Amino acid sequence: MAVRLNKHLTEANLKALKDKLLSDAERIRHNFAQKKSEYESSTVTGAKDEVDAANDNILLSADMRFSNRESLYFKKVMKSLDRIETEHYGMCDECGEAITFQRLMARPTADICILCKEESEREEAQNFFERKSKSLGREMTVSGHA
Ligand SMILES: [Zn+2]
Repeated sequence: MAVRLNKHLTEANLKALKDKLLSDAERIRHNFAQKKSEYESSTVTGAKDEVDAANDNILLSADMRFSNRESLYFKKVMKSLDRIETEHYGMCDECGEAITFQRLMARPTADICILCKEESEREEAQNFFERKSKSLGREMTVSGHA
């Protein structure tokens, strides 16, 4: 398979995007390290058995949700950095077109172009509206005024 290359991105563009991705990765690493040390300092008192550890885990679940989101993003950042190295960064996974530099600066982990993104959002909105109008249909016709 030929390497797809986003011809619209200059070396400087790529450098800027790479810096952004690296600083995001660094920020997340830092957050994780901080959370880890907070957790360790809070559990340092006394030997814990598995039940206590489980309770700690429940208390940590809010943190975990945050961490899951962050680690998901971290994976995306790593994937994007990887793609920069293999030179097919900035190409849309859906239609294969180049993603604009503006979009990539706003969202350096973007792997679909704005058109495909809008398309999928329109579909989502459509589905949402259909679901909503099914459950609220009656209410909407009653209160609906043009
Ligand atoms: Zn696309």
